[in-house]
Amino acid sequence: MSQTAASIATMFSEIAGKVTEGSRIGRDEARWLWNNASDEELRLLAAVVRGRFHAPASCTYMVMRIINYTNVCVAQCDYCAFYRLPGQEGGYVLSHEDVFAKLDELLALGGDLAAFNGGFNPHLPLSYYCELFAAIRARYGDALEFYALTIAEFMYLADHAKLSYPAAAERLKDAGVRWITGGGSEILTEEFRARHSKFKYTVAQYFEAQRAIVEAGLKTTATMVIGFDESLEERLEHLERTRLFQDETGGLASFLCWTFKPYFTQIGGIEITTAEYLRHLALCRIYLDNIPRIRSSVLTQNEQALGGLNYGADDFDLPIEDEVTQKAGATISLDFERILNYARELGYTPKYRHVSLGQPPWVDEA
Ligand code: SF4
Repeated sequence: MSQTAASIATMFSEIAGKVTEGSRIGRDEARWLWNNASDEELRLLAAVVRGRFHAPASCTYMVMRIINYTNVCVAQCDYCAFYRLPGQEGGYVLSHEDVFAKLDELLALGGDLAAFNGGFNPHLPLSYYCELFAAIRARYGDALEFYALTIAEFMYLADHAKLSYPAAAERLKDAGVRWITGGGSEILTEEFRARHSKFKYTVAQYFEAQRAIVEAGLKTTATMVIGFDESLEERLEHLERTRLFQDETGGLASFLCWTFKPYFTQIGGIEITTAEYLRHLALCRIYLDNIPRIRSSVLTQNEQALGGLNYGADDFDLPIEDEVTQKAGATISLDFERILNYARELGYTPKYRHVSLGQPPWVDEA
């Protein structure tokens, strides 16, 4: 049945009333917003939820580097342009010295956060990771912080070492690890994973591992990637599962959504528009009412990601390297001032957020 302008206005006002009074919206209402709300209406509702966590003109950023310590991987995700199979030409593993050189360069460029992201490399034992992370902690102390692996890699290394997730989390913690982030989630539906990454663990396994990480006292985050062939229902299911996990554990410090880069991948395709990305960010901010920090992706959207601040985001990265997305078409600018000026022109006052200082990531710096 087609909706009249009057019925659309009534429905929007009902949903807006719920959001404004702090009530939670459900999946049907999120679907309705996506299909019917204007950009301006989504921005308005996202600003309401953002305002519960952050001052209107505030936003934060980090200068960071993703360190792709190995590109050898057996998972064979069809959206990945980065990996090499074991024994294939071009495969590599970084040494401690390689990693230290990258960390030294990060510090020299004013950054203090490194995120480790590689592949499911069957030749790397648990000791490779523990020795590497312990060496970083010994050499740099609290001068920088590092996100040690994504949950997907954590699951692989635990299985490969024949350890339970809790036992593997403890081993990494003993090596100085404080964070294991929510990467490797892409779209958290079993159907999506069966279509594109059947060797990359089920959704149930993903959350089982993340729960073990939280229970071990490690910090973690939520992520999402859009722009493959996922349906609106799959996006909503991802958000629903994420919100539920946060209700149950409270362990998610932030939520980062970025967009799929299709170049040189097996599935190919074309990128979604920035306009679609921004609308999605707003929907995430409205729906994930229990996650304090919503992050916009400069890595995949360049300076256009700053527009996300008007769609509910409050934080963004200034990355200096990520081979995974760069292989698939991402471009990186080291002209940080130029990017920060986009935020200033929109009326925001960007402040550096030092994860290395151990602050809860949702506390805005004075
Ligand atoms: S996305 Fe990650 S897990 Fe999948 S093939 Fe690429 S490196 Fe491997």
